[in-house]
Order: sequence, then C-alpha cells, then structure tokens
Amino acid sequence: MSGFSEFVYHDNELYVESVPLKQIAEEFGTPCYVYSRSALTKAYLEFDSAFSGRDHLICYAVKANSNIAILNLLARLGSGFDIVSGGELLRVIKAGGDPKKIVFSGVGKNIDEMRLALEANILCFNVESEAELNTLNQTAKDMGKIAPVSLRVNPNVDAKTHPYISTGLKENKFGIPANEAERIYQSAHQYAHIRFTGLDCHIGSQLTELEPFMQASSKMLNLLDTLQSQGLAIEHLDLGGGLGIRYTNETPPSIKDYVSALCASTQQVKQRLLIEPGRSLVGNSGILLTRIEYLKHTPARNFAIVDAAMNDLMRPALYDAYHEILPVARNNEEIKNYQVVGPVCETGDFLGHDRKLGLINGDLLAIMSTGAYGMSMSSNYNTRPRAAEIMVDKNTIHIIRQRETIDQLIATERILS
Ligand SMILES: *Cc1c(COP(=O)(O)O)cnc(C)c1O
Repeated sequence: MSGFSEFVYHDNELYVESVPLKQIAEEFGTPCYVYSRSALTKAYLEFDSAFSGRDHLICYAVKANSNIAILNLLARLGSGFDIVSGGELLRVIKAGGDPKKIVFSGVGKNIDEMRLALEANILCFNVESEAELNTLNQTAKDMGKIAPVSLRVNPNVDAKTHPYISTGLKENKFGIPANEAERIYQSAHQYAHIRFTGLDCHIGSQLTELEPFMQASSKMLNLLDTLQSQGLAIEHLDLGGGLGIRYTNETPPSIKDYVSALCASTQQVKQRLLIEPGRSLVGNSGILLTRIEYLKHTPARNFAIVDAAMNDLMRPALYDAYHEILPVARNNEEIKNYQVVGPVCETGDFLGHDRKLGLINGDLLAIMSTGAYGMSMSSNYNTRPRAAEIMVDKNTIHIIRQRETIDQLIATERILS
C-alpha cells in the first residue's frame, strides 16, 4: 500500500479522512502538520498481519516522528520502539510504550543514556563498536545490572539510496564488520555485565528494492549460523528498517511483500524477528499544510512564497527530496511553472521546484508524504516557532502539539549581567 489513501478530493476540496483541510487551517492556522489516524493504523496492521503467525516484534523507529500521540497510538496497537537517544526513551515511556519492547540504536550513546535505559530495563542495546561495548559493560557493572546486547553488524551491502541515508556500506560510520562482530561475540566471557541476546543490522533508508534487504538478510543468517554452532544463545534477529515509500513515482515493494520476503528469507530461523520501520509507518500518514503568502513573478521565475519553510520541512534542502504539492482547493487558474519557496533567508529554502500549478494569493497547499522526518527534523532557524501538529480521526480533529510561541523559544536565553 502506498500513496495518500486518506488524503482525497471531494468536490475539488482536499480532505483528510472526513475533514476538509481548509477547516483545519481556519481553526489552527498554518503551517501545521496534519496526520491521519486511519493511515497510521492501516500501515501498522499491514506490517503486523504480514508476519502471519511468526514470532515478531515491530520496533517503530521513533526518530521518524516522535510526537507522543503517535507513539501512544502505536503502543496501543502493540508496537515496540527503536530509539536513538535518552530523550526518545523518555518520550516512549511518557507515551505509554513498554520498555520491554524497546531497542536502543545509535553510534554514540553516552553514559547517562545508558543508565536511563538500564534503569528502564529495555529489551536490547544495539551496540555499534567495541569501545561502546566496554562503556556499556562498565556502566552496567556500576549499577549492578546485566545489559542485553545485539551487535549491529555492517553487512557491507549497497542500499542504492541517497548517500546521506545509506548506512550499510563498509565506509559508513555504522555497525561492526561481520568478521569483527564474530570475534566480539566469541569473547562474550570477557564482558561480565553483558548478555548477548541478539543480532542486528540496518542498511539505510528509503530503499525501493528488495534485493539489498535480501543480501543483508543472507549475510546475517550466515553469521547467526556461525554463532549458534559456537554455542551462543541468540534470542532475536533484528533486520532494521529502511523500507521506502512512494513520494512521486517510486515503486517500493508493498509492506506486505517486504515482510513476506523477510520471513521467507529467514524461514529456517527459530529466533524472534525484529524490524525497525520508521518512514514506511508514518510517511504517507501526514502532510504539511501551508498558505501562500505572496505570488511573485520575476522575469526569470514564478515564485509561490508560502508560510512553511526549510525549518519546518528540511528534506528538500537537505537531500533535494521531492514532495508532491497539491492545491487544497482545485481552481481554474492558469497553470504556471512555480518555485514553491519559504520565507527563510537561504536559496536552499524551497519545498518544490518547477511545479505546474494554478495559484491564487492566500490559497492553501498540501505538501504530501511529510509524516516521516518532517516535524522530527524541524528547527527554529530564523526564530520561527515550530508548526502545530494535528491528528484527524474520522471527523474528529485532535491537536497533538500546540504551535510554539516566540516567548517559549527565547525563555532559556540570558543577557550578560
Ligand atoms: C533511521 C533508522 C531506522 C528507520 O529507518 P526508516 O527508513 O525510517 O524505516 C531503523 N533503524 C535504525 C538503526 C535507524 O537509524
């Protein structure tokens, strides 16, 4: 399932579920992120049902969208969580997530974060270096605890995605080469406060083909076999996240086909399977709603200057990412070639280049497929308060994050006395 199933036109007006987006803009202002509870739920259930009976845990990658309402809805559906910081751990707990379903990823966990996670008794630390393993062992020792650990293996496969979000090549900062991981697992006895419970990899994000996943899975199986033959009791195999979504004309595998392929490729594995999807759960469940401030026609270009900017949605500026831009009300204006840009003082501040649109001053636009890595990557650049977030459930509108105020932004700053 891909595309924007819960964002559809009725009589030339764009709706989210049963609510016109125009109504949300009038009640809550713009820019704001708008999510569909139904789209989120459908995506989760598509993952969950595709495992059909197989022992599994879906660990939603919190960094894709960390609003506690989203975490709470996923927790209610039974989801676990993949976190990358102490802050994300506290969010998951606040949202009612079960610590026994949390895995902790990331190359640079600090001692405070390790302590928080050991205190909470999380399911597993995905450890990315020997140095980190030593620190974790010592921290657990100081607390009189045993840390459950998976080593994150770098399987050295090409994810064929944007270089900034490719993580499974030997040149990347992530993971441990398979042969080194094997050696570290074998030296388990040296780590009195570590228990090796799993094996983990994650090769990148926005993958649109199955092949790299299959290559990684096969390398992980080889290592799992070796470790088992050496008598290590591994309890779970974590194959990471990374399934891509359709932003425009990409054709990623469906969630169901992806999970089925992972299950088939690991048929002989008795261990529990973990996956860490982020983008594919929330990406097409949300849009960024923005209003046109000015239309500006120069001899070279037509600009639509909107009230959302790169601080609200960084992906176009950061990765040259493409997001579909739809008018909230379809009209009969002349179609022109527009540069859709924000108010921030950077030429890199654009939401879309060369879009064929018929626009009127004051119109609303929907920046599609922005549920993942939209709000969670936003900033206060140019002292712009961050956008409000709205969750629609059929015909009910819930505000799940208030728009920030300027006072909140500067509240912690101090002038020299
Ligand atoms: C970012 C990340 C994910 C999620 O990736 P998606 O492409 O959003 O599915 C999963 N695991 C790890 C370790 C990550 O860093």
